[in-house]
Amino acid sequence: KFITFEGPDGAGKTSVMNEVVNQFQKQLGDHLIVTREPGGNKISEQIRRVILDRKNTEMDYRTEALLYAAARRQHLVETILPALQADKLVLCDRYVDSSVAYQGAGREIGMQAVARMNEFATEKILPYKTIYFEIPVEVGLNRIAKHRDSSKIDRLDVETTAFHKRVHQGYMKLIDEYNDRFIIIDATQPIEKVIQDTTDVIHQIASE
Ligand code: C5P
Ligand code: MG
Repeated sequence: KFITFEGPDGAGKTSVMNEVVNQFQKQLGDHLIVTREPGGNKISEQIRRVILDRKNTEMDYRTEALLYAAARRQHLVETILPALQADKLVLCDRYVDSSVAYQGAGREIGMQAVARMNEFATEKILPYKTIYFEIPVEVGLNRIAKHRDSSKIDRLDVETTAFHKRVHQGYMKLIDEYNDRFIIIDATQPIEKVIQDTTDVIHQIASE
């Protein structure tokens, strides 16, 4: 089964995923594949480097969206599909929904346009379920500022609160449209509770 993790910045997605993965790895071993785009394959890493080298200025937003989709395509083919064919449980940190929310809504290219472009990249392969970590925009941004995650601070300089609000609204629309696929976790709870909720959800999905 293919499960993705999504959410706005500062939701704690990464910390929660690390903890949850530790628990499931003990139980599932080789049966579990944990991955994130660009996924460590050579071509996607090269594409990712181009995205990150943009120095936040000269890269056109559509170019950025196309590059994310290209890296996604290669990651899908090299990592996700082989694992699914082997009947493994695949947990992937961000996927198409991130592009629709960040590039489509956040950068205002248009959610539909980005979704359609990603349909080409993914041949419409969507996750079985998407675990979404919900946090109000201001709370998420405050968390990041407090933790002084330097990799995020750079981005926060160029990505305004308005940008993050658009991203959040984008996610809300996606949840509305794909309410069968999205499972929402309240990420404002204490981290132990968020981890527990996430673990419960994955157990449930795995048993379906
Ligand atoms: O928290 P995480 O490491 O997943 O954050 C990834 C960051 O990469 C996002 O905050 C966002 O700025 C950027 N991103 C993006 N478009 C995507 C995926 C990620 O802009 N499709
Ligand atoms: Mg993160």
